[in-house]
Amino acid sequence: MIMDNSVSDDIPFDKSFDLPPGQVDEVMPGVRRLVAPNPGPFTFTGTVTYIVGRGKVAIIDPGPEHESHIAAVLDAVRGETVTHIFVTHTHRDHSPAVPYVKAATGATVLAEGPHRPARPLHIGETKRLDAGGDQNFRPDRTLADGETVSGDGWALEAVATPGHCANHMAFALHGTDVLFSGDHVMAWATSVVAPPDGAMRDYMQSLFKLRVRPERIYLPGHGPAVRDAPRFVERFIAHREARQAAILHRLAKGETDIPTLVRAIYIGLDPRLVGAASLSVLAHLEDLVASGLVATEGDPSIGGTYRAAAG
Ligand SMILES: [Zn+2]
Repeated sequence: MIMDNSVSDDIPFDKSFDLPPGQVDEVMPGVRRLVAPNPGPFTFTGTVTYIVGRGKVAIIDPGPEHESHIAAVLDAVRGETVTHIFVTHTHRDHSPAVPYVKAATGATVLAEGPHRPARPLHIGETKRLDAGGDQNFRPDRTLADGETVSGDGWALEAVATPGHCANHMAFALHGTDVLFSGDHVMAWATSVVAPPDGAMRDYMQSLFKLRVRPERIYLPGHGPAVRDAPRFVERFIAHREARQAAILHRLAKGETDIPTLVRAIYIGLDPRLVGAASLSVLAHLEDLVASGLVATEGDPSIGGTYRAAAG
């Protein structure tokens, strides 16, 4: 999922990605990818499923519960053995195909854990905000940050990267310059950080974590590869810091609400993305309230009013 394009002139997004759904593409030696037919404002051209290795392979993010995509994934590994299924996070465009691929292959499913919100739900906060979560997902094995899983000719290191989703993990491919970055860092748009699944402070910490890692190429959950990744991550950090500064700047003029902040900050926003933008602003406000820079009545909520904290 993604995106907010307003303050983003600063980020050199790459939207050149014309791989048709279901077509297998060898993105680098030993890594194949195929796109699910679920394009949209949050998924770009669709979810990208990766196949790592040859003969005995791992699949990263089997994708949505979409019959033709599941068939295409299984077709792509025909004659091979799928030993592992890795899941970057449990949004519905990434993990619901897991049971089908597992049933067909017997592979072990690995992930950080089941779906969960980044914080306890507030009173009156319902699953409306949480509709994108795959509540049924259960890994066979949970992974700890830094854990390495080895297969036949490949090894993947789990890199806990919460923020977009509490259980988000990226996977570094040993012996290469490549990190499978899921929806945490993508080339085509910024990540949606939407409470209660997402948390801005976690997201920023995860960006700081990637910034100092050695991998230079990211293969994301949507769209093309990220090149010169550490510099790209740097841009994302600056982008969020600018967004936070814009919110504080507006609040310095007086008490206001989230719709007003969204109109002030996201110029020319695609109307389909207003909901996501509102949640992204809420994510910033949650962080700012926790830091004591912003005040509101009760828990920060989508309908609340916000003001700069005194002093
Ligand atoms: Zn996604």
